[in-house]
Amino acid sequence: MDARSLSQMSDAALELDLHAAVGRERTSTVESLAFIGEFDARGLHLPAGYPSMFQYCLSELSLSEDSASKRIRAARAARRCPAVLAALAEGGLHLSAVVLLAPRLTPESEDEQIAAASRRSKTQIELMLPERFPSEGGPTTATPVPFDSIADSHAPGHASTPSTHSKVTPLSSGRYRLETTIEQLGYDDLALSKALLPHTSPWCDAAEVMQQALRMLAAHLLKRASSATAKPRAQLREAKGRHVPAAVRREVWQRDGGRCAFVSESGVRCGSNRLVRLDHIVRFAEGGKSTSEILRRLCGPHDQFEVKRRLGAGSPSGSNASHASGRRTGEPFGWPTNMPRGK
Ligand SMILES: [Zn+2]
Repeated sequence: MDARSLSQMSDAALELDLHAAVGRERTSTVESLAFIGEFDARGLHLPAGYPSMFQYCLSELSLSEDSASKRIRAARAARRCPAVLAALAEGGLHLSAVVLLAPRLTPESEDEQIAAASRRSKTQIELMLPERFPSEGGPTTATPVPFDSIADSHAPGHASTPSTHSKVTPLSSGRYRLETTIEQLGYDDLALSKALLPHTSPWCDAAEVMQQALRMLAAHLLKRASSATAKPRAQLREAKGRHVPAAVRREVWQRDGGRCAFVSESGVRCGSNRLVRLDHIVRFAEGGKSTSEILRRLCGPHDQFEVKRRLGAGSPSGSNASHASGRRTGEPFGWPTNMPRGK
């Protein structure tokens, strides 16, 4: 299509084709949500070398953080409540509406929720939700899901309480805005730390206290994770039983850069630094010794993936059955039966 042919269309034809184009876009959005939901439920981002569906969407599907986050949340909601896909396809709900409803959607309430939000703008739904769910408290927001809150779960239905979301927004190079809610205990610790911190200016604010606290926490966790010691032993010792000597742990940590060493068949290395733990490449029961050559660091999701693979369960989430049924019907999971396919 070129811009010139559009400029020569009549007003009526232009309006008609605009509606048709948006309708096709809705149809393809629903289709991609169904595929994302099925792919996510099978955990296929793991063998592909990614610690989360979110990272897979960014790296392999070239989606933006916002787009990936919205689609994953909507796809997971649609796994629980497939009626949202039909509502999306018909135009009753837009994607932002599904994301707003997602944490509150249950199979029992989906029809009522969808009807209440139908044909409403995002702002109207944001205003409506506190009235319908007063017990949640706090501002309801559709929002920018914190990239890391969604990153390490591929469980369908994963959702956290909206009022507890924190948000990190880049402001400029090296500066970020952190918005969060803390409980009374956290507030008391913040006030006490501020009062006791030595060498700080009287106008030291919460951000400065938090930065110092985070530096101390990070150093503490890094030391524990890498088994770092002030005076590392020069000689590595072989393992006795399942025990892995601290010196070996340190060597593995340094070699893997403290990051997940899982590599997919196509050569994609995970590299996640979340929940990284030690893994025997050769199982202990198969004669693996705890020397650095047969050890590697794996993130939590890849650790679980490898455990299931070794147990012969195939891909996580028991996907063989759903895989077979998907092939049999030729339709992705959740495709509304009363909806026409894309033109
Ligand atoms: Zn990993």
